[in-house]
Amino acid sequence: MLPQVIIIGRPNVGKSTLFNRLVGKRLALVDDQPGVTRDRRIGEAHLLGLDFAIVDTAGWEDDDPESLPGRMRAQTEAALVGARVALFVIDARAGLTPLDEEIARWLRSSKVPVILVANKAEGRAGEQGILESYALGLGDPIALSAEHGEGMGDLFEALLPHF
Ligand code: GDP
Ligand code: MG
Repeated sequence: MLPQVIIIGRPNVGKSTLFNRLVGKRLALVDDQPGVTRDRRIGEAHLLGLDFAIVDTAGWEDDDPESLPGRMRAQTEAALVGARVALFVIDARAGLTPLDEEIARWLRSSKVPVILVANKAEGRAGEQGILESYALGLGDPIALSAEHGEGMGDLFEALLPHF
């Protein structure tokens, strides 16, 4: 079985864009387990020399903000079981939000290693968000543009020690 890498983050930060870039044209499988895992997408990713299963968690993207954290935790907890490493994605252009900070707090207390990914970092618009993200206490952010495919080499280098 391939090691699993799970993508975590609040809505609209670019999780699915990153998932699609890593999976490419290969078919993404929707996990058909019942309950909290129903919205999980799993694909086979290739990044330079690394092969892994990539998991896009989207089930908590709900219109009711009151329900976000609870559902997010249930989803994430289920998906984190057995994950080799988590990619925690933030939006470098938007800067940090309270939900980013809550997810970070939760991830810091989990046992799964976390790679902080500052997405939408193409051009200069992400510089402030990248600097802010050091405050999350999850180490150095990897500056990435999932949409434009920039920073994928740095993501590879950050993943490598976990394989
Ligand atoms: P998700 O909700 O976290 O899965 O986010 P999506 O992947 O659906 O992306 C949300 C929005 O951000 C879409 O409009 C994407 O086109 C945009 N987006 C994703 N990655 C990037 C990026 O690297 N740069 C910019 N500028 N926009 C991006
Ligand atoms: Mg998505």
